[in-house]
Amino acid sequence: MNIAEMFYSIQGEGILSGVPSVFIRTNHCNLRCTWCDTPYTSWQPEGREVELDGICAFVEEHTRGHVVLTGGEPLIATQAAELTQRLRELRQHITIETAGTVLPGGLACDLMSISPKLANSTPHQRDGGRWAASHERLRLNLDVLKRLAAEFEYQLKFVVTGPDDLDEILGLAAALRAPAHRVLLMPEGTTREAVAARAGWVSEVCKREGFRYCPRLHIELYGNRKGV
Ligand code: SF4
Repeated sequence: MNIAEMFYSIQGEGILSGVPSVFIRTNHCNLRCTWCDTPYTSWQPEGREVELDGICAFVEEHTRGHVVLTGGEPLIATQAAELTQRLRELRQHITIETAGTVLPGGLACDLMSISPKLANSTPHQRDGGRWAASHERLRLNLDVLKRLAAEFEYQLKFVVTGPDDLDEILGLAAALRAPAHRVLLMPEGTTREAVAARAGWVSEVCKREGFRYCPRLHIELYGNRKGV
């Protein structure tokens, strides 16, 4: 499996924020978000092949019971389902962090952390805009999103950049019939200052709509560094 990095850290986002977890970050993504915070899995992919046995050995060595399969887009990895089944055999709690554009069969998962990509993610200005059309075509797959929400325990996590995002969020939450407590709004930003600058109005939207405010704990703890 092509892996960008494996590390043991604190889950920084979502309803399991604060839980010590092993992170398995796959390389490669089918999207190109303009603000991607792991460009080494998307815009400039860097990875190495690691056998499933090697991944499982790393998990067994470091874990306290929680594993996060993330990316890039982990669900485009051909061995994603097989890996999750191996993690299930190791009695791990498995979170999968996905943009929700593809759904392979045979996944074992305890928390599907679905982060649909909003219009704010489309890279019109980046790399000459050459990824914008494919990103726009792929970023939302309502059929896959509905199946993910129906088949798994889930959270719906939106990266928000401005108040203009709200109509799209409300439309998706309604289309998925997602109760408000499953909807998380997370300020976009890879520095404490950038997150803090959006925190005020994002929290007010959460209070008004009953959504959950989603801090970026790992940014507070470590900044935007790889492997922590
Ligand atoms: S889906 Fe995630 S990994 Fe892929 S480009 Fe967007 S932010 Fe980066």
